[in-house]
Amino acid sequence: MTELPQPERAGTAVDEDLTTTWRALWTETSEAIGHRQHARWMCEVASSTEPDEFLQSLDKAPAVRMVSHLDAMIARYCTGEPLQYVLGRWAFRRLDLAVDQRVLIPRPETEIVAEAALKLALGFDVERTIVDLGTGSGAIGLALADELPLNGTSIWLTDASSDALDVARANLAGIGRAALNVQIALGSWFDALPANVVADVIVSNPPYVADGSPELEPVVEAWEPASALFAGPDGLDDIRTIIGGAVSRLRSGGWLILEIGHDQGPVVQQLLAAHKFTKSEIRKDLNGQDRIALAQRT
Ligand code: GLN
Repeated sequence: MTELPQPERAGTAVDEDLTTTWRALWTETSEAIGHRQHARWMCEVASSTEPDEFLQSLDKAPAVRMVSHLDAMIARYCTGEPLQYVLGRWAFRRLDLAVDQRVLIPRPETEIVAEAALKLALGFDVERTIVDLGTGSGAIGLALADELPLNGTSIWLTDASSDALDVARANLAGIGRAALNVQIALGSWFDALPANVVADVIVSNPPYVADGSPELEPVVEAWEPASALFAGPDGLDDIRTIIGGAVSRLRSGGWLILEIGHDQGPVVQQLLAAHKFTKSEIRKDLNGQDRIALAQRT
């Protein structure tokens, strides 16, 4: 898009600066993609700057390799690829997570699921064991590791996709000392866990979309991993498996927290009641839709 190396500069080192500025590149990118904020985020990623830093470098010249990266992002964005995958990272609570097509894009409603799990986990004040089932990018479990006390916290992240766990592992490396409290296990739901793991809090954002659901946005279906979205004819296959296995993996007084579909609240409460969760509650997301199921083991 912008000044590519001229023929006489063909041998230019990739880190040599170009004569344009980040201000000009931001404008060109905005025009190319039709979105000024998205263009800014792409420029921040291409220039490896934080937001404040980017504003201070508007008059600086980009290196050739940064412009190549930006051009590649613009091309991907223009194919309809979601911004989060194009950027390769997305914010989730206090974390900046690596994300790509191996994992679901972290969503705002899932931040609320993590918050509900955080509050309940804080109720176990000396030691707490938490399991994030089907962790994907690691969003929920790593946010909990990041926000819970360093002392006494033990967190398991599981996923049946080894590709997803590669992303979770990359994100684990980014959380600092709290990473020592986290273990990662490959496998389907509870099968991933060693037999002796018993949790105070089990949290999951499982697949919960019905196969072939007309409600799923086309861009989600086109780009995000089907294995993280679809769960049988009624979207409840994985929720049934998790609820069925949870009682034997929770300590007495422990909590199960699930992200669910907006129309699944009543049936999920029935499933919970059928598996000896005497009390359960359904909470809404930011759009006022049923989204979180919470239940405590007696
Ligand atoms: N919230 C997602 C969507 O409908 C679904 C996520 C999931 O199945 N866990 O876009």
